[in-house]
Amino acid sequence: MNTQSEPKPAKIVLRELADKFYQDAWDAKARGEKIGWCSSNFPQEIPSCMGVSVVYPENHAAAVAAKGGGRRMCEEAEADGYSNDICAYARISLSYAKLKECPELNMPQPDFLLCCTNICGQVRKLTDKPVIAAATHVHWDHVGGHRYFPEFCAHEREVGWLTGGFPLTPEQIKAFVVEGCNLPAGFDVSGYKMFQGFPARVLRDGDTIDIGGRVVRVLHTPGHSPGHMCFWEEEKGYLFTGDLAYVGELFAYYPSTDPAAYLKSIERIAALPVKKVLPAHHDLNVPATILTDMQNAFRRLKAEGKLCHGSGKHDYGYFSVWL
Ligand SMILES: [Zn+2]
Repeated sequence: MNTQSEPKPAKIVLRELADKFYQDAWDAKARGEKIGWCSSNFPQEIPSCMGVSVVYPENHAAAVAAKGGGRRMCEEAEADGYSNDICAYARISLSYAKLKECPELNMPQPDFLLCCTNICGQVRKLTDKPVIAAATHVHWDHVGGHRYFPEFCAHEREVGWLTGGFPLTPEQIKAFVVEGCNLPAGFDVSGYKMFQGFPARVLRDGDTIDIGGRVVRVLHTPGHSPGHMCFWEEEKGYLFTGDLAYVGELFAYYPSTDPAAYLKSIERIAALPVKKVLPAHHDLNVPATILTDMQNAFRRLKAEGKLCHGSGKHDYGYFSVWL
């Protein structure tokens, strides 16, 4: 049975997701729940796991600017004395906080603000318990802060990548950093080094991480990388999918990726009773049905003989696969 519906253009799907996201926040406000404004570098997993609704002023400001309201809102802030050296998004958000509405896009006013300068520093303030970092895999963009967490875990198949065996040269990694990141002004990539170190705990499929009253199971889900793990919190139905499943472009074209293993991993997690998908990139507002949608897409690629490196980019609306 083919359960896959006709793919919609990504633009439409993203608009629907954004509309639903803001509507959910308005609905929560109408139910009397507190709504937060969350800055982009705050660990949004924290409110998300607590079921607390937050909206993102930077995203809202970008939407206002895209609809032509940026200049008006910035001038409003400047008239109140804010320097135009301040980020334009911040000026738009400051105006919106004062005006409380604008014709381009409205979102609920905040009951609290969440912001920080350094995620690792904030986590330290949240608890006096030992903090262990467990990344789903050790690609450079997931372990950049590991040096702040000496007690970190890695899957057995990626320990070698942290001890000199990563299959890209430092120059190639730097090129990815420049290409993939919105780097702060003044950042000098020439001094960038991918994190290296030996994990305090080596993880294998089926291991559990007990965080005190909550137990997370390690699922070895290779494909995007050889030691990729999803973290499964069965009691809550939360699945932390890392780079295996998210809204956006999925990468399975590097030589170290494995398209056939990717399909098996997707089939494994699609069979779980997942209530909430918590991915590593882009958007936490991910429908759990993404897992079956991805399973259908990968199965169809296999049937068409395209589940192999070099078959190109395949678009499925709200996600795509680069093989
Ligand atoms: Zn990755």
